[in-house]
Amino acid sequence: MLVTGGSGFIGSHLVEALLRRGDAVVVLDNLSTGRIANLDPVQRNPDFRFVHGSVLDELMVDELVHECDAVFHLAAAVGVRLIVEQPLRSFTTNIRGSEIILAAAHKYRRRIMLTSTSEIYGKNSAVPLREDADRVLGSPAVARWAYSTAKAVDEILAYVYHRERGLPTTVIRLFNTVGPRQSPAYGMVIPRLVRQAVAGEAMTVYGDGAQTRCFCHVGDVIDGMLRLFDNPAAIGEVFNLGSQEETSILDLANRIAAKTEASSEVQLIAYQDAYPVGFEDMRRRVPDTTKVETLTGWRVQRTLDDILNEAIAEARAEQAAAVIPG
Ligand code: UDP
Repeated sequence: MLVTGGSGFIGSHLVEALLRRGDAVVVLDNLSTGRIANLDPVQRNPDFRFVHGSVLDELMVDELVHECDAVFHLAAAVGVRLIVEQPLRSFTTNIRGSEIILAAAHKYRRRIMLTSTSEIYGKNSAVPLREDADRVLGSPAVARWAYSTAKAVDEILAYVYHRERGLPTTVIRLFNTVGPRQSPAYGMVIPRLVRQAVAGEAMTVYGDGAQTRCFCHVGDVIDGMLRLFDNPAAIGEVFNLGSQEETSILDLANRIAAKTEASSEVQLIAYQDAYPVGFEDMRRRVPDTTKVETLTGWRVQRTLDDILNEAIAEARAEQAAAVIPG
């Protein structure tokens, strides 16, 4: 199995799951946002190999796709902060990278799963969002909508390669995936707020905090991905993967404060002070996951409570390790 972006947060969990079930895994990652330490648990596994390189390197991609049976394409510019701060790099990496991977998969007739995003729906505030919901976007000059468009181009490439060339592709759209090893560095709210609370710092809630999200544990996401990968009926289709347990960001901060017994206060920060120009938030985002559930029997197993308990334990362990000399 080739996993692009395998040293990232989600990729590294996928790699572990594939190795556990007996697959041999090659990771291609340029370590831009991924961390080699994410792969520490698998480095000694003889069925695992790491290749430091880019999905933009056509020769490298050609060789790796050739030697593997199937591809999970996760390499991409991630995180709202990164995409609004580096729009050009994010846009070109995401489109070119997917084009190169899909072309190689087509050349060698490999099964391929592409990871897309709930950002596809833009500011469509329908609840819940079904896979065939409209995309509602603002100006292409706004970085967030440019990112959404790049991911839509990736999806379109996957569909047309399937329809016109018979390539076995499946697209999954991830909604706010969280869990161990997710870095706070790219702006994601749970790793940030949890670390702030554990450090006794103010928790930064953007806007009025009434915007809502549904957070899904990475273990559940990987379970869904593998069920879809294994199911021939998922070929040529797109699936949402996410939780339906909706929370406002303000409630999230209050829950984290209560769980950590932190003295941290919630600090409301205006969007224009939190993000560079060119940022727009969405008020609600809830996936309809009927399609994956009906096809594969997938169900979310972990609650937001489980997710927060684990994230707090991870942040505390990190803090403890940081204060021990050496
Ligand atoms: N957010 C926040 N404080 C932070 C980071 C994010 O209030 O320190 C908000 C952000 O504006 C958004 C929500 O939390 O409304 C989820 O943000 P994240 O970047 O995790 O995911 P996405 O925006 O992609 O849903």
